[in-house]
Amino acid sequence: MNLPAPYRFLELTGTHRAIGEALGQLDPPFRRPPWWPSPPDPELAEACRRLVARWHPPLIEEYEGYAAAQGLDSRLLWQQVCRTSMRARLFACSAVAWWGPDGTWVGRNYDFQPIQRRRDLIGLRPEGSLASLGMMGSVPGGRYDGVNEAGLFVSLHAVMADEPPPRPGIPFHLIPRILLERCRSAGEAVELLLRMPHMLPLNFLIADPHEGFAVEVHPLCAAVRAPEDGILAVTNHYEHPAMRPYHGPRDLRFSIRRKERLIEGIAPSDAPLPGRLRQALSDHEVPVCGHRPGFATLWSVITDLRQRAVEYAFGPPCQNPFYSFPWPASLPKGPKEYPDIRSASGAC
Ligand SMILES: [Zn+2]
Repeated sequence: MNLPAPYRFLELTGTHRAIGEALGQLDPPFRRPPWWPSPPDPELAEACRRLVARWHPPLIEEYEGYAAAQGLDSRLLWQQVCRTSMRARLFACSAVAWWGPDGTWVGRNYDFQPIQRRRDLIGLRPEGSLASLGMMGSVPGGRYDGVNEAGLFVSLHAVMADEPPPRPGIPFHLIPRILLERCRSAGEAVELLLRMPHMLPLNFLIADPHEGFAVEVHPLCAAVRAPEDGILAVTNHYEHPAMRPYHGPRDLRFSIRRKERLIEGIAPSDAPLPGRLRQALSDHEVPVCGHRPGFATLWSVITDLRQRAVEYAFGPPCQNPFYSFPWPASLPKGPKEYPDIRSASGAC
């Protein structure tokens, strides 16, 4: 399948080592994202590596395969992809889930700066782990959102909050990956998420066909929110009273408005889903859909977890069509025909 550059759709199967090698061969020479802060010192990076080796060991094998294919030292590569601080002024990613009589719908926009060139949709079927479909951004191996074969959806949202001095934890981009590979339900994912050591302020939307949660994490605290009236929205601020003090004096109004707009947009009405979900994700009043250099919607996903349907749009959802992709369990073993997105997609 050909996507308009820089988007790619890759299907990777086999052992994690083989998956790492295949991605390392497909990728250009690795470059650390220039907007990331300096890498952690080797001791802190090694402590994080040991944690990942404990929580999901195959990921370390995958990085070793990637490093071998790229001709890199695997410890140095790990140090480069281990991010221990966020330190950005604005984060904007929006997600909403709705549990209704006809389906369980989730919609999510991933927003960042156009400088982020890695925008890979990955169909993954690793040996010994659950298959998944999701977006990899910034560095190899991570996931920013996705669904797995059991019907679990996970999305990651950076939170604007104070950071304590860096300490060992699971690098942020690997957390959705680990949940998608290991968990069959939202309950399992939340339980795992709450036990993991975290380094950064983050929100997660976790949903399965039957239930879901917003999990708000900080290196020093974590809290869980449940849906209200069957609706759950997550943006870039903490809602739980125990978490709010970590924001300090930051202006959260944009994040709060996006959350409110998504809840209004998906609330039951005469308009059918997924149309009203697409409309909410394409909102330009707040806006939820980003077209500014510092706030650009790089992709959008809509999924019906009950019907096992998933669609991605490559660019702002107001001007790019959503394309259906095979549910992860049905990922093909060999080449398969897909619609040619390059010819059908609008500007990104
Ligand atoms: Zn738009």
